[in-house]
Amino acid sequence: MPWLDYLSNKIGSRLSGSEGADKGVQWCLEESKKFLTMLFLQEVMVPHWVRGEKEKAYYVVNGKKTEVNICALGGSIATPLSGLMANVVEVKNFDELKSLGTEKIKGKIVFYNRPMDVTRIHCFEAYGGAVNQRGGGALHAAKYGAVGVVVRSMTQEIDKYPHTGAMRYDDSIPRIPACAISTLEANELSALLKKDANVQFYFKQSCNTLPDKLSHNVIADLKGSEFPDEIILVGGHLDSWDLAQGAHDDGAGIVQSMEVLSLFRELNIKPKRTIRFVGFMNEENGVRGANKYAEVAKEKKDKHIAAIESDAGGFVPRGFFMEGDETKRNKIKSWAKLFEPYNLHSWDHVGSGTDVHPLGEQGAFLLGLSPDPQRYFDVHHSALDVFEMINRRELQLGAASMAALVYMIDKYGL
Ligand SMILES: [Zn+2]
Repeated sequence: MPWLDYLSNKIGSRLSGSEGADKGVQWCLEESKKFLTMLFLQEVMVPHWVRGEKEKAYYVVNGKKTEVNICALGGSIATPLSGLMANVVEVKNFDELKSLGTEKIKGKIVFYNRPMDVTRIHCFEAYGGAVNQRGGGALHAAKYGAVGVVVRSMTQEIDKYPHTGAMRYDDSIPRIPACAISTLEANELSALLKKDANVQFYFKQSCNTLPDKLSHNVIADLKGSEFPDEIILVGGHLDSWDLAQGAHDDGAGIVQSMEVLSLFRELNIKPKRTIRFVGFMNEENGVRGANKYAEVAKEKKDKHIAAIESDAGGFVPRGFFMEGDETKRNKIKSWAKLFEPYNLHSWDHVGSGTDVHPLGEQGAFLLGLSPDPQRYFDVHHSALDVFEMINRRELQLGAASMAALVYMIDKYGL
């Protein structure tokens, strides 16, 4: 908890390329040095996108302006200096966009307003079902001549907080600015558009992509005594979005992963296999750190038997996501009884984490800590992702769950 307090409150946001990200790397290295001896930084070039001035937005109905809360999506270009004003066309998906075509879209701002599906109990599935509007919304709309896009924030909560996140362009399609609008105001805008198709929307953002910058993954090993070449990786990502402190995403995952190695030291458990902590850089807007790590691991022929990521929030743990070989999955599931007293019972969701994913093709069995997801998207990528939203007990239980699983994998292999 003191670790996450420091990372959140003293360092704060850690978007790739920022001063905060550099401080996060240094802090992680220095803290890990206190209980580990084998550490190093791995160089990686990362994108450097900056938000610039706070965004402005309003809509106009019958000459009356109403201000709304937006934020630029990560990677977006700026609007013209004086901002961008146009009529709005609401769509729920790319098919609807296509059926409207150039005739209805040209010169307009496209408003993507498909909510996350609240009937999906597993919120990551709901997120997966909505997030293509954010990632690909601008490039799809630009094909039909749109001048900008406004995307409903990726959260089930209805409030005034816009949620950022990565978006991408395609070099063959003109680049248009993209922002997220809060869900409350997305609902209001949608209701207005039903009454009056002439609603105009204005937004101004001054974000910019600067040249790539040198950054680092942090790697620290607790060497195995019997099979030092077999690596069990635990990790999270050091970078965060810039709107808050990245306490849940992914400060929690970083400190839980560090805690796994710290617990082994504290309890004087000598692992048979090498337990490796990796603090990945640039998960949010490029995944360059994870790709670099996997590339080097391949060159060095590192043998990762398992890679576990915590990047789903610091909430009460429910189990683990898993992906990979069925026999290994079943072996882990055969230990489920041992985890039951701790209320860990979810072993059937397929998945792991963005940062460990590239190691799958090198034979690593992939896992991800699976905390209760119900409150994660309330804070995810928004100004609400702060230390006050962390519950100490829940965070600690997550770290303990990871440590217990690493202990089992170390003891019995995979
Ligand atoms: Zn994350």
